[in-house]
Amino acid sequence: MNMQPKTLLQKENNFSVWYNEILKRAEILDVRYPVKGVYVWYPYGYKLRNLIYAILRSLMDKEHEETLFPLLIPKEELMKEREHIKGFEEEVFWVTKGGSTELDIPLALRPTSETAIYPVFKVWIRSHRDLPLRIYQIVNTFRYETRHTRPLIRLREITSFKEAHTAHANRADAEEQVKKAVALYKSFFDELAIPYVITRRPEWDKFPGAEYSIAFDTLMPDGKAMQIATIHLLGESFARTFDIKYEDKDGSLKYVNQTCYGISERCVAAVIAVHGDDHGLILPPGVAPIQVVIVPIVYSSGGKNGEVEKVCFAMYETLKKAGIRVFFDNSGDRPGAKYYRWEMKGVPLRIEIGPRDMRSNSCEFVRRDDGSRTQVPLVDVVSAVKRTLNEIQSCIAKRAKETFFANIYKSEEEPSTKAAHGIVSIFLCKSERCGREAEERFGISVLGEAIYEDEDARGRKNEGTCMICSRKAKRVYVARAY
Ligand SMILES: [Zn+2]
Repeated sequence: MNMQPKTLLQKENNFSVWYNEILKRAEILDVRYPVKGVYVWYPYGYKLRNLIYAILRSLMDKEHEETLFPLLIPKEELMKEREHIKGFEEEVFWVTKGGSTELDIPLALRPTSETAIYPVFKVWIRSHRDLPLRIYQIVNTFRYETRHTRPLIRLREITSFKEAHTAHANRADAEEQVKKAVALYKSFFDELAIPYVITRRPEWDKFPGAEYSIAFDTLMPDGKAMQIATIHLLGESFARTFDIKYEDKDGSLKYVNQTCYGISERCVAAVIAVHGDDHGLILPPGVAPIQVVIVPIVYSSGGKNGEVEKVCFAMYETLKKAGIRVFFDNSGDRPGAKYYRWEMKGVPLRIEIGPRDMRSNSCEFVRRDDGSRTQVPLVDVVSAVKRTLNEIQSCIAKRAKETFFANIYKSEEEPSTKAAHGIVSIFLCKSERCGREAEERFGISVLGEAIYEDEDARGRKNEGTCMICSRKAKRVYVARAY
């Protein structure tokens, strides 16, 4: 058996190296594909991705319908919305040839799908009875990234973009949808035990074509913020460009009001980065491809060991029937090698059974999140596994939250030092000039104004003077950012 090197990884000291090593050693993503910014999911990584997206799907399916739009967008549609194309122009991949023939109309690989979907909305939406219309798709999108690409985080092919698009009869309904989307994303990240701040992006840095944008940011172990979800109120801007109108009850024709919101595989990056440690991944049980691994403590097969393996296999069958994602590692490797492998892959719970446990009709539970060991009677295994997985889920959520909020600061002066390892709230006015100057001067990015949070309850003053121009200002979050 090909043993992997056992050198300890150092997440806190060198996150970047840790991250790349984990993707490889835990078999999440293979970075050896010969196109820059384009990567291959290993089967194990793809299972993790699918379990995470299953949660997202089940939340979306309550009020949205899943659909699938084409990858190719005709140039004329992509170019229609002026602000929108300005925001994406430099990032579009173009298909200009079919075989050796130049295409009459160049086709864009979708960088996002507004301009693929809204011409169809124009056809689908006729009357007020067609509203609200709420759809989503999970697709790959392409962006010609010129910055340093990074697996799952900054990509040329985003493989797993969940984008939702909704149309409503009026602005109030659209704004209500924005609130619902925020609530939905909160539930999603809560299930992944990923902490976040929610901000309203500055006017000068919103989604191209939107009236306003809301973002979720989490904190990576290197102290940088990472945007993990965005929600946009589009209002009537795209409806006017794509002529999406409906006939109201009184017979009048009106433009629809729209929203769109998206999440990419950055959510997988967040799960990996936020929870993992020097031994590898730590996966929330809800999304772990293997929730329990059974390891027989035997040093050769056959003989007395046959009994141990029999008990292990019976336990495997029982747990599987109980709906647990369980794996019985009866490979020929030594137990130590098995521990290493499953710790690296973030399996939340390991069950060990050796001859001594057999004599007492018990087994040993070893938790991945804190390494603790508990002796459990064999007859109680199913209920004990379920209980322990729940405990692990809440423990890692608590730990992630504590770390996160310990790294959110407020600062009245120079934010640079604090922003070296966290998110800082400072007073900054709404002007682009001050925003850009703050970014330049302090080496940070402006995330936006904190919303949907009771700031006063935390004893923070919300009104102050802008750090740059001294005019009246509100608190905004800033950080070094991905
Ligand atoms: Zn200012």
